[in-house]
Amino acid sequence: MSLLSVNGLSVKFRQRHQDLVALHDVSFSLDRGERIAIVGESGAGKSVLGYALVNLLMKPGYIDAGSVQFDGRELTKLSPKQWQGIRGKKIAMIFQDPMVTLNPVLTIGAQMIEAIRSHTRIAYKDARKLAIEKLAHVRISAPSQRFDQFPHELSGGMRQRVIIAIALLLNPEIIIAIALLLNPEIIIADEPTTALDVTIQAEILQLLKQICADNGVALILITHDFGVVSRIAERTFVMYAGRIVEQGPTLEIINDPQHPYTQGLLNALPQMALPGQRLNQIKGNMPPLNDQPSGCAFHPRCPYAEERCRQSPPGFVFSGVSTVACYVVEDMLSEFSQYDGGDS
Ligand code: SF4
Ligand code: MG
Repeated sequence: MSLLSVNGLSVKFRQRHQDLVALHDVSFSLDRGERIAIVGESGAGKSVLGYALVNLLMKPGYIDAGSVQFDGRELTKLSPKQWQGIRGKKIAMIFQDPMVTLNPVLTIGAQMIEAIRSHTRIAYKDARKLAIEKLAHVRISAPSQRFDQFPHELSGGMRQRVIIAIALLLNPEIIIAIALLLNPEIIIADEPTTALDVTIQAEILQLLKQICADNGVALILITHDFGVVSRIAERTFVMYAGRIVEQGPTLEIINDPQHPYTQGLLNALPQMALPGQRLNQIKGNMPPLNDQPSGCAFHPRCPYAEERCRQSPPGFVFSGVSTVACYVVEDMLSEFSQYDGGDS
């Protein structure tokens, strides 16, 4: 049995007239200790998927259909109280990096806790302990008293050090360590390193991979960057306009992408281009939620689009490399099979 099994998950955003579909019928599974990547441009629905998995969709988002099973247990039906036993404990999350500034109307402690919890859900008392440790780390005396004070009660130098303490908390290595505090079975990391320098990014992701491998923790890495995927994930799911359009083993997808969107993403990568070759950006943009194209949502940007692509969305076929939703791939497969049939 898979550790996580997502079936037909659909997410909508409530609107006055007609609800907007943010995730269409998403299905995938994750085994114990496995590492997968969800890849796509911004607006593809990757983060919505991440939030939906742990029931943290912001209003007006809601799960419209489908199921998410963790270790055989249905998550979409859990009460907030039942979620407390799962979120942060069994399934940890690492979110994007926020900026560090001190808010004058909140205590130092509240801001540190918020910084910790913006990245990962851990119990208040664990977050507090960690925050006080970090205050001591930057040599703030009586850290547990400082924790309850407001910024104006501290000297300028101390405020500076509080900012450093928060930055330390936001250090990806520490975030990963926090996420691991409660021995989760899954870590969902949503673009955890985008704010960082490329070399540091690679090191942090390598570390994340190593930690997961050493502890048997499964990883869902959400990213727009195919370059990082190859080093981390065993399987890759490419998302476009709220749908998975291609999925399969990472190396095979990178070496032989089947879906025109995946091909476009890979062609746009500097590290994948041959020396002297021009990078090809995919023309056009990800469609907004309130203006989704008919049929295959990629058709306005696809170099191979035909009339039927505008009419109805393609189903999935297995290409021999990956599972793909595209009419052209489907046609190629049926030509091959006719050729095989004629030959025998
Ligand atoms: Fe392009 Fe048509 Fe395939 Fe969509 S189904 S990716 S529009 S060829
Ligand atoms: Mg995102």
